[in-house]
Amino acid sequence: MTHYPEPIIKLIQSLSRLPGIGKKTAERLTLHILHASPGEAATLAADIIELKSSIRLCEICFSFSDQERCKICTDPSRDKSLICVVENPTDMAAVEKSKGYHGIYHILGGLLSPIDGIGPDDIRIRELMKRAVPGKIQEIILATKTNVEGEATASYILAKLKKTNIRLTRIASGIPMGGDLQYIDHLTMQKAMEKRYGF
Ligand SMILES: [Zn+2]
Repeated sequence: MTHYPEPIIKLIQSLSRLPGIGKKTAERLTLHILHASPGEAATLAADIIELKSSIRLCEICFSFSDQERCKICTDPSRDKSLICVVENPTDMAAVEKSKGYHGIYHILGGLLSPIDGIGPDDIRIRELMKRAVPGKIQEIILATKTNVEGEATASYILAKLKKTNIRLTRIASGIPMGGDLQYIDHLTMQKAMEKRYGF
């Protein structure tokens, strides 16, 4: 690889820092960009810059948005009395792909993990409590993954909201223990959502 001129080596190194991209793929992508038209390469560079400058977190659910409020939170066909609590935007995307859910979301931005020093103040639990207004919110679905941290986070939220008259449910069957939501096929996710259980 050292036989390449410096700009090629630099881009190979940058791309290989991306998840799932090894040195070989990075080299292939770099050479592809090199052979692309100046317009194509400029568009790619501009898209990356725009992504970083325009994307922020939705002020309601904390998913990615290019406005103060995201597309889902502003969609009039969405049931605003139904909140699905997930760890991150990838898990939200997994629930969305199932097409079986028509409420809105709350992105925690992590899971409780005392071993790693992650407590309730390190994820968006307080923000969820603020949203959990009885009368306004009918149901909160706890859709954190089924590993130790996911269960601990669901239990913590459950304990915090038990006294409200909001219906609290947990996604159910089909999600394997320790299962990562993003790897679950959309039918399994749909079933898990349909068969959620209350407390
Ligand atoms: Zn939102």
